[in-house]
Amino acid sequence: MDHNLTPELQELRRTVERFAHDVIAPRIGALYERHEFPYEIVREMGRMGLFGLPFPEEYGGMGGDYLALGIVLEELARVDSSVAITLEAGVSLGAMPIYLFGTEAQKRTWLPRLCTGEILGAFGLTEADGGSDAGATRTTARLDESTNEWVINGTKCFITNSGTDITGLVTVTAVTGRSPEGKPLISSIIVPSGTPGFTVAAPYSKVGWNASDTRELTFSDVRVPAENLLGKEGRGYAQFLRILDEGRIAISALATGLAQGCVDESVKYAKERHAFGRPIGSNQAIQFKIADMEMKAHTARLAWRDAAFRLVAGEPFKKEAALAKLYSSTVAVDNARDATQIHGGYGFMNEYPVARMWRDSKILEIGEGTSEVQRMLIAREMGLAG
Ligand SMILES: Cc1cc2nc3c(=O)[nH]c(=O)nc-3n(C[C@H](O)[C@H](O)[C@H](O)COP(=O)(O)OP(=O)(O)OC[C@H]3O[C@@H](n4cnc5c(N)ncnc54)[C@H](O)[C@@H]3O)c2cc1C
Repeated sequence: MDHNLTPELQELRRTVERFAHDVIAPRIGALYERHEFPYEIVREMGRMGLFGLPFPEEYGGMGGDYLALGIVLEELARVDSSVAITLEAGVSLGAMPIYLFGTEAQKRTWLPRLCTGEILGAFGLTEADGGSDAGATRTTARLDESTNEWVINGTKCFITNSGTDITGLVTVTAVTGRSPEGKPLISSIIVPSGTPGFTVAAPYSKVGWNASDTRELTFSDVRVPAENLLGKEGRGYAQFLRILDEGRIAISALATGLAQGCVDESVKYAKERHAFGRPIGSNQAIQFKIADMEMKAHTARLAWRDAAFRLVAGEPFKKEAALAKLYSSTVAVDNARDATQIHGGYGFMNEYPVARMWRDSKILEIGEGTSEVQRMLIAREMGLAG
């Protein structure tokens, strides 16, 4: 279904498909088992320009857009989701806030190295008591006028790419004051890695995405210059809503890739595996299951690409992005379950890619807005919210 893609995007898709097959597939199983971050693969993706895909060339980017990013994420996730989420979080959550809301000086300072993958950025929004309800942020930042510095205190949890050897910054949301009505003013502030008082915990032990980096972050009287404020004070809430709207398209493309990877593996296995004297794929029960899996992956692709086309065209895309994220994450979980079933006992063995896909699928219904949150957004866009 590449007919509506430009020749450049078709070529990009083929290049990343080959990269995923030749470079990621042979290495990722061992890294995943050992819970190791894929530094060498990330370096190669940096050399290919993937971390700079949707950013202008003047900042070291490739001059592409969210459609190009989605195409790449889908191809990566067909083979492995830890690598795909490392790119997604690096681009959508790490670099994009700086590109969209940063001053010229902030862009010049950070984007060139983020675009080459020399450093990774992270986005620290979630807290122990505020995930879906991210407006419940408790982290605070106080401006010390004597030194013209923000003083940040608080804890963030589940932050992707925040503690690797190449993490360069985390953009954190913090309450910087109160509006005249007494509402918290949430602002975004760039905190460079290694700033005194900024502590990164050991990686979480996760069910899936085991070759990606996820950490808890603590800020104890962390001081950064006043000019590290991203955009205007009090705009942090609006900023992360925008970032998450766009990020949903990227996660949806990633989920579609996982759903398609399950189809790829199942078709292969159904032809190879014999039971009762014939390939299991000659049974209609298996054929129908795989046909349904293909239908779901195909429809998920239509959904995320529709949202991406709208975003790129400057049209409203909020509802379509939420629909795509909700649908693609649901079918990723469906396809991972069915692919595992088709593989029988081998599907429960970590050496088979479908076992990894099964473990990696569940988070897609949770991260960057749970399925319930997507339903809330869709209903709100339909004028149904109270
Ligand atoms: C591996 C991983 C990586 C992550 N990376 C990042 C990152 O880089 N940056 C970052 O900021 N965050 C990150 N997160 C956090 C993630 O975005 C949150 O976990 C997610 O938004 C859900 O928040 P929560 O965990 O607090 O769940 P909660 O908000 O506590 O929700 C619990 C359950 O209640 C449901 N629920 C909540 N409110 C309602 C409602 N009003 N109506 C119906 N149901 C409701 C939810 O849908 C969910 O099922 C990551 C999480 C994980 C696991």
